Amino acid sequence: MNKTAYITHPACLKHDNGAGHPESPNRLKAIDRQLHNSSLKQRLEYFQAPKVSREQLERVHGTKYLDYIEENSPASEQGTFYLDPDTRLSYHSFEAANRAAGAVILATDLVIQQKVNNAFCAVRPPGHHAKANSAMGFCIYNNIMVGVEHALEHYGLERVALLDFDVHHGNGSENIIGHDERILFCSTFQHPFYPNEPFAQDNPHIICSPLNAGSSGSEFRAVVKDKWLTALEQFKPQMIFISAGFDAHADDFLANLNFTEADYQWVTEQIVEIANKYSDGRIVSSLEGGYNTSALANSVEAHLRSLVLSH
Ligand SMILES: [Zn+2]
Repeated sequence: MNKTAYITHPACLKHDNGAGHPESPNRLKAIDRQLHNSSLKQRLEYFQAPKVSREQLERVHGTKYLDYIEENSPASEQGTFYLDPDTRLSYHSFEAANRAAGAVILATDLVIQQKVNNAFCAVRPPGHHAKANSAMGFCIYNNIMVGVEHALEHYGLERVALLDFDVHHGNGSENIIGHDERILFCSTFQHPFYPNEPFAQDNPHIICSPLNAGSSGSEFRAVVKDKWLTALEQFKPQMIFISAGFDAHADDFLANLNFTEADYQWVTEQIVEIANKYSDGRIVSSLEGGYNTSALANSVEAHLRSLVLSH
């Protein structure tokens, strides 16, 4: 096999949050440019994301919410509909959202069917703030949870880990996971900070590790070693999903943590090691945040380097 899948779709470049919005198509363009000039490029297998099906979305989102998104999707280039003050539907958003979730479905299929070792979804809109019945914080569908539920419900896996190192708490994922103990959720995030919602404490399958503003990669690495790796060793996941947000980078202007590319490479190496030990190497990673485009591109390359070197 020896393959890392890179899954994206042109529609993801057309989702338009409006002028000056940090969650812009330039993010994916910067990643694409970076990889074009990288030795990693020939180690990646490129795929176009399919559209997610309604049935696949319904494992994660309520039917009324899905109808609401569909009904309010603009029918012309001029139309817009605000789902929350930061998140809007433009003409192409519906297709972009369907491809973003579909990318994680394809990634899950490719990895479980052993067509690739692991996969990265370069998609937007991101997903981890989207709850079962609401959009939030640039997110429409919870892409990574659509993949997690596909692994559990379609393939019958019994233990799946979701690791989230985005600078923001993955509150949507935590909302959807609820009491489902088939999922181990580990999340680091700046706190107090957006989304300013309660998070689980003293919960063996939802491990939230808030970090103070100004924390560096060394604090992050300590949490990963103390909390994540300990829990993963006990849980022995059959597959690992990653909410890969890169907005904890020191150069990101939306938040105040000080991670570097080396930290993203390091954490990915730790995840690879656990995946190789317990999960047949199965890793599906999907892009969440990251708003300084050059820091984002460098960080994604570092993350992908560890995924590629895993096989
Ligand atoms: Zn974020």
